[in-house]
Parts: sequence; C-alpha cells; structure tokens
Amino acid sequence: MNPRKLIATARALRELGFDEVYITEEKHKEPVKEEKEDKAELLRKLYQQMEEERKCILYEGASGYVFGEGDPNSPVVFVGEAPGEEEDKLKRPFVGKAGQYLNSKLEQVGLKREKVYITNVVKSRPPGNRAPTREEMMTCLPYLRKEIEIIKPKLLVCLGSTAMKGILGKEYPITKYRGQTFPYPYNPSIKVFLTYHPAYVLRNPSADKEFTEDLKKVVQLIYQA
Ligand code: URA
Repeated sequence: MNPRKLIATARALRELGFDEVYITEEKHKEPVKEEKEDKAELLRKLYQQMEEERKCILYEGASGYVFGEGDPNSPVVFVGEAPGEEEDKLKRPFVGKAGQYLNSKLEQVGLKREKVYITNVVKSRPPGNRAPTREEMMTCLPYLRKEIEIIKPKLLVCLGSTAMKGILGKEYPITKYRGQTFPYPYNPSIKVFLTYHPAYVLRNPSADKEFTEDLKKVVQLIYQA
C-alpha cells in the first residue's frame, strides 16, 4: 500500500476509536514460475555437447554424428543400433530402407513417426555398416542415457540385439527376449520393450507377423495407465 493511503487509513481508524493499529506485513509473494523444462532445448544442448566432446569414437570414420529425432515429449522412444549409409548422408536416424519399413509399420499400428522419438545406441556409422563393438557402444552410451533422462518416456522400444545390449546390458539374441518387457535399469519406472530390428524383418519376412504384433503391444503399453 502506498504511504499516503496508509496514513489516511490509519487516521480513519483512529476516528473510529482505534488507539493502535497493528499492521502485519504481508510478504510479497513472487508468482511461482513453473519451470517447464524445454526438452527440445536440452536435447539440442546435449547434441552440441556430444559434437564438442567427440567421445563417441566412431566419429572419425563417419561424416559426423546422427542424433535422435522426433517428438521430445513422446511417451515412447525407439532405439536402434547405429546409423547406416543413408542416415550418415542425411544426418537423420532411420531414413534408409529399414527406416522406411519402420515408418510404414508405425503407421499400420496408428503411430505417426513425427509423434514418436527415434534414436540409436551408437551415434555415427560403423565402417561398412558392421555392428558396433562393445568399446564403441560404451563411448556413446552416456549420450543415449542422457537423451532418455531428458525425454523421460513411458516406454523404450529396443529394436534388435544391439539396442537390447545397450539399454539392458543383455548379451542374448533378441529372438530369445522379443515381445517381453523389462524395467529400465537407470529408471525402473520406464518400461523397456524388446522387438526385432526392422532390417532383420526385411531380411526375414516371416518375422513380419511377430513384429506387427510387437508394435501393437507397444501401442497398448503407451496407452496403458
Ligand atoms: N539402422 C539403425 O539401427 N539405425 C538407423 O538409424 C538406421 C538403420
């Protein structure tokens, strides 16, 4: 209250018979700023950090890093192995044949690619598209973990054995575990669902039925309370 008004109010109260007026100071309350973290911005910073640190050791042989893409507020993150030739050229994950197949399967179960988040364990292309070594994976995993920590999805979908190895540390073939759900070791409130890598399904068309079933289960898991 401004001082003039305060004096006028005190006088009016005295005229009304009040000898003393106690004023309890009401602390000025700052409006609580909702710290709505901007996940897109945090991911952009992480990508920048990865570029600066160059710790993910396949960088030299490839034409740079391929970071994850999609909706950072998505309840689901799909994790693949590593960028291939096409991904390396375009600097986007899953844009080659396997990516196109994955897109069509997502659409088939009612998921839009741009509404999910897609990334890889290894962020640059291994020479000749070979599977990344354990050492290569270890140098890139901290960035994947940070990506997941920022997005905090409800569900992580491992596409193939390399993703399963990276996320769960399991060395077994994906065929043994596909269709199953595990807690994410770094945050057990996140579920990890295992399925085939789309490139495997392209090479083994008989796996398409199971892959479709798995993706339908992914949709159920996303919408489950
Ligand atoms: N295979 C992957 O695992 N990741 C890609 O980004 C493309 C193909």
